[in-house]
Amino acid sequence: MAVLSLKYLPDPILRKKARPVAKVDQVIGTLINDMFDTMREAGGVGLAANQVGELLRIAVIEIPEEPPLVLVNPEVTRRVGRREVEEGCLSVPGYSGIVNRSIKTKVKALDADGVPFRITAEGLLSQALEHEIDHLNGVLFIDHLVEPGELIPVSASEEMED
Ligand SMILES: [Zn+2]
Repeated sequence: MAVLSLKYLPDPILRKKARPVAKVDQVIGTLINDMFDTMREAGGVGLAANQVGELLRIAVIEIPEEPPLVLVNPEVTRRVGRREVEEGCLSVPGYSGIVNRSIKTKVKALDADGVPFRITAEGLLSQALEHEIDHLNGVLFIDHLVEPGELIPVSASEEMED
């Protein structure tokens, strides 16, 4: 169990594409646990491996009152609809923005034991899935701003970060 150090914009690792995990072994399991520790410490609802300096396709999500979700090699298989929603990121501290996201998302991935699963999500979970899988492709929420370049400064107390 360890809290890892977060990478912040403009760290180039945030713009790199993470590579697939070949085998979900103990080393990957430790990284997943450390990512949960890091995300919880930072008060986020999601974290991608790029954000802790590992170019591996791993993301964790934990939305209040829902079970924690581990995604290894995740892929969005379907996006339905479009909506505008406010979003932030642990790697872009102090700012949020209005972004375009899907209404509904279908994702396939491996879980923490390497077992394949599929998930259909709406609302915050769908948003978090798109956000974290974007990270693994070097994409940040600021790339989806409805008004390019328009970021909203947020005070630390009301920050809502993915
Ligand atoms: Zn993020």
